[in-house]
Amino acid sequence: MIRICLPSGKSLEDVIDEFNPSWRADNVVWDGASSPWSDIKEVFASLQGCKCAYCERVLQGTPSENKVESDIEHFRPKKKTVVGRGEIPAKSGRADGYAWLATNVANYLLSCKTCNSSLKKNFFPISGSVGLKNQSVPKLNAREKPVLLYPIGEFDTDPEDLIDWEGFTPVAKISVATDAFANARAERIIAFFGLAQRQDIQRGCAEQIIKVWRAFQLRNDPEEGLSTSDFLRRCQSEHTEVHAACTRAFLRLVATDSHQARIEVRKAEKYLAELKNLYQLPKKLKRSRKIP
Ligand SMILES: [Zn+2]
Repeated sequence: MIRICLPSGKSLEDVIDEFNPSWRADNVVWDGASSPWSDIKEVFASLQGCKCAYCERVLQGTPSENKVESDIEHFRPKKKTVVGRGEIPAKSGRADGYAWLATNVANYLLSCKTCNSSLKKNFFPISGSVGLKNQSVPKLNAREKPVLLYPIGEFDTDPEDLIDWEGFTPVAKISVATDAFANARAERIIAFFGLAQRQDIQRGCAEQIIKVWRAFQLRNDPEEGLSTSDFLRRCQSEHTEVHAACTRAFLRLVATDSHQARIEVRKAEKYLAELKNLYQLPKKLKRSRKIP
């Protein structure tokens, strides 16, 4: 997860208005069945570099045509909120949901189907007190202290201040002794979205680490240096790059401890090789069945 920066000097509302001047001006009302947010899905795809806001997985296809791959996700559920996963301790947001935020753009982000439909669902774990009806997002944030993190703009903590990466494995950045809530929040977010277990994320991060390491080795090469330096610069500075949070953490490691960075590259190579063997296994079994 990485902070999704807004264009300099612009609010999320400004960006929406530029894309579709009538969407907010018309005071769209959610009738409980329609999905008016689909009309501005492309704005979030563009802001997020066509990546899921929670897991940074690259979303395939164009946002308008691909309803199988991605959704506009309501950070605070618009309907009933489920008590359950992720609380610190066991608490949840409003039992009847946050219907008044159904058309509030500061409650939107683009998310993959796994993060949205399979994992987040209607969960909204909080560590503070349940928010009051019709409260604004800043007031709700102050009162509820959400466990999950809203990464667009500066409404919430920068994800990179909470979650660090050891190679392609996400870990809490802050110790329990330093800040118990920040530590618990990071641990819960990592567990909630399966960031340390999901094969699609782990594979993407492992591939990116190897790619960055190779680019770093070639950064002074007379022929490849220009393109690799440009790639490394984008990895460092642009949140829209593939698995940007993991990549940036790895770049920091390369700069401070190249020996450990090499160890992490070997781990990534080993993980990808094991994955390849896993997928080749059915073929081998199939072949072996033909032998009399
Ligand atoms: Zn996702």
